[in-house]
Amino acid sequence: MRLASAPSSAIDAAAWTVAADELVETVRELIRIRSVNPPAPGALDGELVAARRIAAMLTEAGLEPEIVEPEPGRGSVHARLRGDGTGGDALLLLSHLDVVPAPPERWSHDPFAADLADGYIYGRGAVDMKAMVAMELGVVRLLAAEARAAGFDPAHDPIPGLRRDVLFTCTADEEAGGLAGAKWVAEHRPEWLRAAGALNECGGVSVTVAGRRLYPIQVAEKGFAAYRIAIRGTWGHGSMPREDNAAVLAAAVIARLAVQGPTRITPVMARFLDLAAASLPSEAGQILDALAGDDPARAEAALAAACDPMYARALRALLRDTVSPDVVHAGVKYNVIPGDAVVEVDCRVLPGTTEPAMRAMLVERLGPELAAVCEIELMVYGAPVEAPADGPLYDLLVATIRDHDPDGIPLPVMAPFATDAKHTSTVGTPTYGFSPLQLDPDERFLERFHGVDERVGIDALRWGLPVLYDVVRRFCS
Ligand SMILES: [Zn+2]
Repeated sequence: MRLASAPSSAIDAAAWTVAADELVETVRELIRIRSVNPPAPGALDGELVAARRIAAMLTEAGLEPEIVEPEPGRGSVHARLRGDGTGGDALLLLSHLDVVPAPPERWSHDPFAADLADGYIYGRGAVDMKAMVAMELGVVRLLAAEARAAGFDPAHDPIPGLRRDVLFTCTADEEAGGLAGAKWVAEHRPEWLRAAGALNECGGVSVTVAGRRLYPIQVAEKGFAAYRIAIRGTWGHGSMPREDNAAVLAAAVIARLAVQGPTRITPVMARFLDLAAASLPSEAGQILDALAGDDPARAEAALAAACDPMYARALRALLRDTVSPDVVHAGVKYNVIPGDAVVEVDCRVLPGTTEPAMRAMLVERLGPELAAVCEIELMVYGAPVEAPADGPLYDLLVATIRDHDPDGIPLPVMAPFATDAKHTSTVGTPTYGFSPLQLDPDERFLERFHGVDERVGIDALRWGLPVLYDVVRRFCS
């Protein structure tokens, strides 16, 4: 069943239709700009082109956007809508304009053509995250249009009815850690990110489980710690095999590290499991109860038996610190025993796990003999982040979802991956994954991220725009 959004008071039905059509066209236009990260050498249509196009749209709306370009071609764009200043700190609409590469071979549509088919827009960035860029732009355009209609200048005058400022910030380089994007902005333009709260990608998207629509709102995300493990063996002649062949040692290292670690339920995930269990039919509820319990074997059995593998993978990752060995190098020639090997591992840590604790876990899993031939070097680290799963903004996100989908079940969740929330947290802005979309029950949303045939539903977008608008209006009024 497709539920109509409750119309938001300030805008009539005809205006919503126009805004939704414009939203669809904006998503398509942004997908066609190949803002791929890492940028192809000499590419002319990268992030800066996308930033300039967004700036042009903001200028058309009567605003005065600003672009920064910390490295050639790596543009981020920002605009501010003013409130009358009586309502407290701003609300930040945060997004990123880069996308991961999309080798076209297995796509059924050109990843940069933004084809319309079966009620969907296809293309790289459709869900990660040009749909949300366009929804945030859509809200900004509606607010600016209301100011113009009332005879005000949206670039300088307060927007009628707004008591807080609304910040729009769309950054480059999120897909590679934000060094040329949100991290740079946090250090050099912190006023672009500093706010009472931020709305960002990933959460607020419906997930249909056992016939019920859950809306996980992202309030936390795991941290990451990537390590390079240098393994010392002995060089030799391939005709006389050795136990200390570094490739053989690397295989043992990988086998030990690839084993799943013990579960630890963080407070956010405990609340997620409780709320989901209470809302779902008893069978699904029992699975979630098993997950929240302290019997790992029972939890794993429940996951494996009953859960869609896509959700099972995500839940497993959210209930423990994870280790994924993703790079292995050894050997120079078939008849030379390699004396050196390198394994790189991607570790994702729960809130409460420090980097030294993660490293200690690796050493423990290797065991003393293997650890003695391994040198573990930290390559990159980002701490976990959490925003309050209560308080005015979180409560408003929950209430607004319920207003637009009375059968919906909003609940807090953690993301297994990192977003620009890592950088907004450095300027003290609590950041929520909230890019509202009401999906078809069968849509495999999580697999669209960085996947083949990435797409976003047109009805899902039409539902989301008024939800996002209402959140902004209500929080800032
Ligand atoms: Zn993203």
